[in-house]
Amino acid sequence: MKKILPVFLLLFVCALAGASRAQDRPARATLLFAGDLMAHSPQLAVARRKKGYDFAPSFAAVKPIVSAADLAVANFETTLGGGRGGYTGYPCFSTPDEYAQAVKNAGFDVLTTANNHCMDRRFAGLERTVRRLRELSFDTCGTYVSSDDREGVLVRDANGIRIAFLSWTYGTNGIPVASDKKWSVARLEAASEDMARARALSPDLVVALPHIGTEYLLTPPRSVMAFVEKLLSWGAQLAIASHPHVVQPLELRAPRSDDRSPAVVAWSMGNFISNQRPAPRDMGVIARVTVEKSGDVTRVVSADVIPTWVQVRTAKGARVSRVLPLLSALKNPAAFQISAADLRRLRQAHFDFTGRVLGKAVPLKNARLAYALEASSEDRFSTAKFDERALAAKKRAGLKAAESGKDGPGRVQKGKRGGRRSKRRPVRNIQS
Ligand SMILES: [Zn+2]
Repeated sequence: MKKILPVFLLLFVCALAGASRAQDRPARATLLFAGDLMAHSPQLAVARRKKGYDFAPSFAAVKPIVSAADLAVANFETTLGGGRGGYTGYPCFSTPDEYAQAVKNAGFDVLTTANNHCMDRRFAGLERTVRRLRELSFDTCGTYVSSDDREGVLVRDANGIRIAFLSWTYGTNGIPVASDKKWSVARLEAASEDMARARALSPDLVVALPHIGTEYLLTPPRSVMAFVEKLLSWGAQLAIASHPHVVQPLELRAPRSDDRSPAVVAWSMGNFISNQRPAPRDMGVIARVTVEKSGDVTRVVSADVIPTWVQVRTAKGARVSRVLPLLSALKNPAAFQISAADLRRLRQAHFDFTGRVLGKAVPLKNARLAYALEASSEDRFSTAKFDERALAAKKRAGLKAAESGKDGPGRVQKGKRGGRRSKRRPVRNIQS
């Protein structure tokens, strides 16, 4: 007995030490962000079945990536208006519920619904969208079904890390929101107050998802940069913007002091899926951000990005509309029935992505699935060089927009809903 007691004591002390080590061990979570989930009418045609719709093939190739994340987030830029009003693509989107089901099955957890298309089926459509998404177990932010709902802040737990999500839109394409239902759409003007409400809940991390910017510009305008700086100064560690439908550069910003976390800024992640074909609107990007909580401090520890491409084929025997990781498409053209013209486009997309988006061109033979973002203390957009690039991009985008229209492929929209912009600046929030 005398010998047994010290052994027990030793085991007890070891167990205690093990438990405290487990407590000290930092919690980690991988957050995944994708761009715009669009649903143009050709996508509906491809998904049409004898009975209902099947959008699962659209996401099959990226499902393993999306579902591997602890939390996956995207911009749901359509409405679920229900079958009675008929399903429609651009300019007023209403999509079958099966689309949202496929997005869920692909592994997405959180959707921002604050965007210029949220009122496409007026308030009834907005409300139905939020309710249906929540019935499908999504968490949503940005549009709301009641004033109480609007006052809440979405906070999700990922491996013990509490993350607040906030989103806002610049507008609703000129479709008015009734004065007694202003709470239904979160607008950019409310960002400061909403950020304060989120901070009051003491989350470990705040993710801001503004719908802002200028469609088809390859770099963010100054007004967007200023707004994102404000979000960071109000406590967002991640600012993931959307609206331009093209991929803009992504940044992992080194912290200004040791006690702060690096920040992730995505100015626009492009179309995750859409039927917009002119390059680079056929491209999107997935960002994976690893965060770590140690004690009371939560930090971004790394981030990488995966370029994606939307393949559209309506030729007989190969009716597809699907998201492919760029590398998969480049390496397996036969398996994915990729045409010679598409393969040429994919090679060009690789150089555009690595050169323009990442800032360092990678030879084709070194193409990878994912590219790590390097932390940089330099603001890539604060130099005189940026202004030149922005001007050139604006000019190009203006020409392209005039040639091929806005959200809808092949259309030229004029006046309020798009087309050529007036020469008046600034062009922060055009309506699409
Ligand atoms: Zn938009």
